[in-house]
Amino acid sequence: MARRTKIIATIGPASEDVATLRNLIRAGMDVARLGLAHGTLDEAAERLKLIRRLSAEEGKPVGILVDLPGPKVRAASFGEKPLSIIEKSEIRLSVGRGQSTAEVMEVDYDGLLEDVQAGDRLSIGDGRVILKVTETSGDHLLARVMHGGTLTGRPGVHVPSDRLSMTAPTAEDLLALEYFLELDIDMVAVSFVRSVDDLRRLPVEQHPAGPLVVAKIETRAAVDDLAAIIGASGAIMVARGDLGNECRLEELPILQKEIIRECIALGRPAITATQMLETMISNPEPTRAEVSDVANAVWDGSSAVMLSGETAIGSDPANVVATMSRIAERADDEFDHRSWASELSDLRLTNRNDPESAITDAMTMAAARALAELRIRTVLCISGSGFTVRSMARFRPEAKILGFSADKRTVGQLTLSWGTEPLHLAEQGNIEERVAAAVVAARDAGHVEPGELVGVLAGTNVHSRSTNVLRLEIVSSAC
Ligand code: PEP
Repeated sequence: MARRTKIIATIGPASEDVATLRNLIRAGMDVARLGLAHGTLDEAAERLKLIRRLSAEEGKPVGILVDLPGPKVRAASFGEKPLSIIEKSEIRLSVGRGQSTAEVMEVDYDGLLEDVQAGDRLSIGDGRVILKVTETSGDHLLARVMHGGTLTGRPGVHVPSDRLSMTAPTAEDLLALEYFLELDIDMVAVSFVRSVDDLRRLPVEQHPAGPLVVAKIETRAAVDDLAAIIGASGAIMVARGDLGNECRLEELPILQKEIIRECIALGRPAITATQMLETMISNPEPTRAEVSDVANAVWDGSSAVMLSGETAIGSDPANVVATMSRIAERADDEFDHRSWASELSDLRLTNRNDPESAITDAMTMAAARALAELRIRTVLCISGSGFTVRSMARFRPEAKILGFSADKRTVGQLTLSWGTEPLHLAEQGNIEERVAAAVVAARDAGHVEPGELVGVLAGTNVHSRSTNVLRLEIVSSAC
């Protein structure tokens, strides 16, 4: 069976040229993540337009996820070549955006001297180097290197999030968002969310009119307010890099499972991110532990797995995507669909006060049962906002999900949904016409064959979110 778990690849200096982007799409990139840490907004917009053009040329929808950096504190550049930071040495930290060395680290955060105190532990570059602040002075901090390592470029400086006076989204985030909304992005990720109020400050319409909002869970406060944050988001990212700085590392795998389960219960896609194939930044093969990490993320119920530095600055981005694709596909093969569906029946949270979503919830559950009992290979979901498709995907059916929508924005947003092939359906007529058009489109594109039994989920009212029809149809050979 083809891969069901989606792959997000971060685009950066190693992957922004035409040939590499095309190879990433061919290797299996479903969503391109545009970080805003390097270059200007105009340059990011050029990358976005190029990805859209190549996706159209390759005939494969590729979603665009813009990741707002939030109050991400970064060091000024350590240069292109790895620079050793020696254990037990002393390093001076000051506010600046110039150059960092092994003795003096400049940090691009004006509040550094006010927010950081003696005794604080600072993790640099997702734990590559650990510092302990020993002294705060008028215009600098002094820190002891507790764990040495090598640093390149502009690594993140993790200041404990409960200390940061800067909140998400930042003023720069809002400006960047305004800029990218003009370009019709599919998804926007919000960094360092601490409460549901942070999400309410985003000037976006509810998806699909606006982008699908991905809340990055990377602070302790977000873990404490998880259900409300998931409820207010379109999807969630388990941002293990920064989350690993906020909790004890041994808690991380447990948190990953808990966050994903909560997403599944509330019907939101969950992305597992960071250091999944980290050693492939320079090596042609991953470590065996990394292979297991990707497979376990699939079995935990991730809708998507994400690559960061591996594709942004790595030596062979297309090889990394192809490797991740093979690992995820093999793990998908072994996925225990039956146990998952029965566990989900207990886990899922049905909001009976919202009849539209309660109807879709019950109908997708009935569909999951029918698909399994009749060993149906394909289910066609005709959806306006993508809600029905995501609701169906929660059940992780063995059947392939064809996610049809007349709304092109929904098609872009469905690139993130587990097991879903997003398809545009021009037909907008009554339910009979829409079902017939979807079955014909699926047959003509080779997804289903004449004589095959398929499931179809749709709503009688195009303007309603609820899916109230489940049909089991035999695909005809006639037009
Ligand atoms: C993370 O911290 O794991 C993460 C995905 O965020 P970023 O890459 O933006 O630091």
